[in-house]
Formats: sequence, structure tokens, C-alpha cells
Amino acid sequence: MKKNNKLKYCPCGAKPTELCLTPGSSLKWAHATCNKCDVWSVEFFTGYKKLDSEQAMQAAVDEWNLAPETPRSWWNVTPKAIK
Ligand SMILES: [Zn+2]
Repeated sequence: MKKNNKLKYCPCGAKPTELCLTPGSSLKWAHATCNKCDVWSVEFFTGYKKLDSEQAMQAAVDEWNLAPETPRSWWNVTPKAIK
């Protein structure tokens, strides 16, 4: 498998060498997760391609590189205690 060196830095501070693709809620969507931290991920449109296809990986890489550089807050939400 060829390495993809064009990935942007992950919010964890590392630069992923590849993305781990996991199915989403439908065939249309999947998640691409950083292979360094296994925490941060982006959701991307698969184009109904198989996740092990080059098209799906390319779509994931494109989405990854478009993702905002600031972490998405929903990963770090801590409910405030109600007093
Ligand atoms: Zn990461």
C-alpha cells in the first residue's frame, strides 16, 4: 500500500501517515480516523464506493485536508454541573 504524505496535521499534533476508514451510519458516509491517535476523525462522503477502494481513500484524504484546524468541540464537551 502506498503511503499518503499529503495529509495535514491532526488536532492531536501528529501528522497521520494514513487514515483508518470506518463505516458511518449509511453507505453514503464514513469516518476517517487519524492513525496516530485513533481519536480524531472526519466524516466524509464515500460516493458509495467501497471503503478499501482508492476512490474512498481519496475522498477521505480530501475531507481530512479540508477539515478545520481547530478541534471539533464535541469531542471535548464536558457537561457543566448544574447548581
Ligand atoms: Zn491524531
